[in-house]
Amino acid sequence: MKKFDVAIIGGGIGGLMSAYRLTQERPDCKVILFEKGHSIEKRVCPIVAGKTKTCIKCASCSIMEGLAGAGAFSDGKYVISTEYGGWLPDFLPKKTVIDYIEEADKVLMSFGAPKERFMPSNELKKKCLEYDLHMSQAQLKHLGTDANFDTMSKMCTYLKERAEILCETDVYDVDRNTNTVYFRNKDGEQTVQADNIIFAVGRAGSRFFAEWCHTHDIPMTNNQVDVGVRVELPAIVWEHFSKKIYEPKIWYRSKKYGDITRMFCFNERGSVVMENTQGVLTVNGHAYKDEAKKTENSNFALLSTIRFTEPFKEPIEYARHVATLSNLISGGSVLVQRLGDLMNGRRTDAKRLAQSTVTPTLNAVPGDLSLCMPKRQLDNIIETLQALDKIAPGTMNYDTLLYGIECKYYSARPQTDENFMLKGCNGIYCVGDGAGFTRSLSQAAAHGIYVSDMILKK
Ligand SMILES: Cc1cc2nc3c(=O)[nH]c(=O)nc-3n(C[C@H](O)[C@H](O)[C@H](O)COP(=O)(O)OP(=O)(O)OC[C@H]3O[C@@H](n4cnc5c(N)ncnc54)[C@H](O)[C@@H]3O)c2cc1C
Repeated sequence: MKKFDVAIIGGGIGGLMSAYRLTQERPDCKVILFEKGHSIEKRVCPIVAGKTKTCIKCASCSIMEGLAGAGAFSDGKYVISTEYGGWLPDFLPKKTVIDYIEEADKVLMSFGAPKERFMPSNELKKKCLEYDLHMSQAQLKHLGTDANFDTMSKMCTYLKERAEILCETDVYDVDRNTNTVYFRNKDGEQTVQADNIIFAVGRAGSRFFAEWCHTHDIPMTNNQVDVGVRVELPAIVWEHFSKKIYEPKIWYRSKKYGDITRMFCFNERGSVVMENTQGVLTVNGHAYKDEAKKTENSNFALLSTIRFTEPFKEPIEYARHVATLSNLISGGSVLVQRLGDLMNGRRTDAKRLAQSTVTPTLNAVPGDLSLCMPKRQLDNIIETLQALDKIAPGTMNYDTLLYGIECKYYSARPQTDENFMLKGCNGIYCVGDGAGFTRSLSQAAAHGIYVSDMILKK
C-alpha cells in the first residue's frame, strides 16, 4: 500500500490551500489529494454552457463538485472580515483568523487574483440602522466568476506538479485506527495510508462526513439551517450599495417571530443559477466580470435562519425536504414567482411571467412559492423585503422575482481539539464548510492553511 505524509479528501479551496501550504513549506512532504468531481478544466455545467435550459442531474454536479470545489464557478467574493463567512472566530482569536485570511489572499494574488478591495461604509450602515436593519462590515474583493475560475485553474496546475491529485476519485471510508483511506475510481477500489488525513469535503461531502463521524462515535453539534429565496430585480435598485461596497450583507430580526433573515450572496448584474446538491435542485447566483456576460438584473439570497432544538436533530434533512417540495411541484425544476403575485395569493403562470418588467435570467418554472415554503419562513422573507424596501425602494415592486428554494445548510460540526484534529483520532483533521466551521471562500481557505500549519508544527 502506498504511503503518504498527508492525504486530503476534497479539492475545494480548503483542501487546495492545505496542499499548497504543506508543499510550499516542506517540498519533500508527500501529499495526495482526492477529488470526487472532475478536474477543473473538465468542469462544465450544461446549463451555464447553454446546452440545456434545465438541470439534467449530471452524475457529478460541476457547480458543486470538482477540483476547486463549490467555489470554482462562484462569483469570487473574497471576504476579509470576521463578522461573517463562518464560525472560525468562535474557535480561534479574531486576529489569527484575519491573518490567515490575508495569507490565503496573498496565495490567490500570486495566481492572478486582483489587489483592489471594496472598503466598509459607515454611512450605509447608519442608513440601515435607521430601519432596524443591520449591515455586516467587511473589506471585500470581487474576482468575478471568470477571473475566479482562472485564478483557481492556475493554482490547480501549480499543485499538480507538487502533489498527487486524483480526480473523479471518491473516498468512501477512512479507517481511523490505521489511517487508511479507501477510495474508488475508474481503476477500481484502492487504499493508501497516510500519517495525517484532512477531511475537506465541503457541502457536497457533508452527509458522507457526518455519517462517518457518527459511525466512529465522534460527537457532532448541529448547525443552523437557512431557508428562503433568491431575489432578482433591476440592478439600479441596489446600485447605491453595490457601487460602494459591492456586497450588501444585511440582517433583520422579524417582529413577528424574532427570527433572523439575512440578505447576502449579492450578484451585481448577474444571473440566477440552479444547483444540484445530492439530487435536490436549489437556486444560487453568479456574476461575471466580463461586460459581455453581465445582465440588467442583480440578485441576492434572502434566507431565514432556523436553529432546531430537541428533539429534532436533522436540520439538513428539513431544508432538503423543503427544497424537494419545490422540485416536486415544478415538475423536477425550481420555481419562480413575481412578488406581487405572491402577495396577492396567486400563482405566477407563464402568461403573468411574460408580463413581468424584470426578465428572469434563469429558466425556472413559474409557480407559487407559498405551496412549498413553510409559513414562518415566508412571513420572515416578506417582512424583511418590506424593511429592505425602505433603504432600497423598488425592492418590493410587483415584478421583483423570487426563485425557490434556496437553502444553505451548514454541516454539523464534529468535536475536535484546538488544532481541529477529530476527537479520539490520531492525525485525522477536518477543515472548511463540510465540517461546519466555515461558509465562505476566505474562511475555508484560511482554515486549510491553518490546519496544515498545525500538521507541520508536529
Ligand atoms: C454557486 C456558489 C457561489 C458561491 N459564491 C461564493 C462567494 O462569492 N464568496 C464566498 O466566500 N463563498 C461563496 N460560495 C461558498 C464557497 O464556495 C464555499 O464556502 C467554499 O467553496 C468552501 O470550501 P471547501 O473547501 O470547504 O469546500 P468545497 O469548495 O465544497 O470543496 C469540497 C470538495 O470536496 C469534494 N468531495 C466531497 N466529498 C468527497 C469524497 N468523499 N471524496 C472525494 N472528494 C470529495 C467535493 O466534490 C468538493 O469539490 C459559493 C458557493 C456556491 C455553490
